[in-house]
Amino acid sequence: MSSTGVLLLIAMAACMASAAVLGSLARHRIAGLGRWLAAHCFLIVAFGALVSSRGDYSPAIVLIACFCVLLAAVLILQGCRQFASRPMMGRYEFLGLIALAGAVLYWTVIVPDENLRAAVMSCALCYTRMAVGWTIWNSRGQHRRRYGHWLVLVAASVGATLYAARMVQCVFFANPAAKVLEPTPLNLAFVSAGILSLLLLSIGLVMLVNDSLVENAQRLATIDELTGLLARREILSRGEEMLKAARSTGSPLSVAIIDIDDFKLINDRYGHPVGDRVLKKFAVEVSQRLRQRDLFGRLGGEEFAVLSPETGKARAATFVESILSSVSGGVTTREGEARCNFSAGIEESGANDTLNDVICRADAALYRAKREGKRRVELAAASLT
Ligand code: GH3
Ligand code: MG
Ligand code: MG
Repeated sequence: MSSTGVLLLIAMAACMASAAVLGSLARHRIAGLGRWLAAHCFLIVAFGALVSSRGDYSPAIVLIACFCVLLAAVLILQGCRQFASRPMMGRYEFLGLIALAGAVLYWTVIVPDENLRAAVMSCALCYTRMAVGWTIWNSRGQHRRRYGHWLVLVAASVGATLYAARMVQCVFFANPAAKVLEPTPLNLAFVSAGILSLLLLSIGLVMLVNDSLVENAQRLATIDELTGLLARREILSRGEEMLKAARSTGSPLSVAIIDIDDFKLINDRYGHPVGDRVLKKFAVEVSQRLRQRDLFGRLGGEEFAVLSPETGKARAATFVESILSSVSGGVTTREGEARCNFSAGIEESGANDTLNDVICRADAALYRAKREGKRRVELAAASLT
C-alpha cells in the first residue's frame, strides 16, 4: 500500500472512532449532532472507497469520494449552524454547491483535469471550514465559549488556510502530469495536514457536544424547569452566600416561605396542566414585583422562597404582604378563572444562625399561618437566644 493509502486508512479509522463517540452521544439530542454523525459516515465511505481501490482511482471511485467529502463538509457546516440556532443553508450557498458538484463531475468525467478538480474541491472545503469557524465564533449568544469552541475555531482556520493554499497550488503551480493523490512529498504534506485538521475538527465537535451536555446538566441543577425560577439547591446555595454577606455587614437577611393555599383543590377542579399554569403565572407575577437584590426560587411543589438582604422581618412582611395582595396566579380556563391565595412565614437571620435555622423558623411561622385560617403572612416568634 502506498504512503497516501496508509494516510487514508488512518483517516478512515479516525473517522470511525469519531463517529462511534458521536453515535454514543446521539440519544442526548443535541442540535447539530445528527448531521455531524452523518458527515463522519460519509467520510468513512469516501476514505473507504479510496483505500479499497489501492491507488487505481477510477472516475467512479473519484466521484464517490469527492461527493461524499463535499456532502460531509456541508453536513458539518449545517450541524454547526443548527448548534448555533441559525438557518442551515442560504439559497446562494445551495446554488454554489450545485455548481461545484457540476464542476467536479465535468473535470472528472467529461474533460478530466485532476488539478482543476482538486482546486474546485479545495475551494468548497475552504469555504465550508471558514463558515464553520465563523458560525462557532458567533455562537457565544447561545453557548458559553469553552475549549470545544476554540478547538473547532483553530481546526476550521487551519483547514481553511490549508485548502486555500492547495487551491492556489493546483491553479498556479500544478504539474500537469502529476496525479493528485500520488505519494509525492507535496501531496503527502497536504493530505496529512488535511487529515490532522479534520481530526482536530472532529474532536472539537465532540467537545462541543460534551460542553452542551454539561451546560444542560448545570441548567437543570440551578433552574426549575416549570417556572424558570431558581431551583431549591441553587437558592439554598446562594442563600448561604447571602447569609455570609449579611453576617459580615451585621445586617439581617429575611427569609419568606410562601405556600399556595389549597393548591390541591385547583388541580382537582381544573386539572394538573392548569395547576402548572397557575404556578408559572405566580412565578412571573412575583418576579415582576421583587426588588433587584431579592432572591426568588421554588423550593418544591407549590412552595416558594424569597430571600431579602438587608431587610428586617417586619419590613419583609410588609413587602411580601403587598406583593401577595396584588398577585393572583390567575389563569383563564374553560370552567372560568382559576386563582389562588397564599400564606407566608417570615423570619430574619440572627448573629449565629445557619440558613437552615432561619428557614425552619420561617416554616414554623408558615404552618401557624395555615392553622390560623390561611391567606395571611405570619412572622416567626421572637427567638429566645
Ligand atoms: P395547603 O393550603 O395546606 O398548602 O393545601 P395544599 O392543597 O396547597 O397543599 P397539599 O400539600 O395538600 O397539596 C399540594 C399539591 O400540589 C399536591 C400536589 O399534587 C400539587 N403539586 C405539587 N407540585 C406540582 C406541580 O408541579 N404541578 C401541579 N399542577 N401540581 C403540583
Ligand atoms: Mg399549599
Ligand atoms: Mg405545600
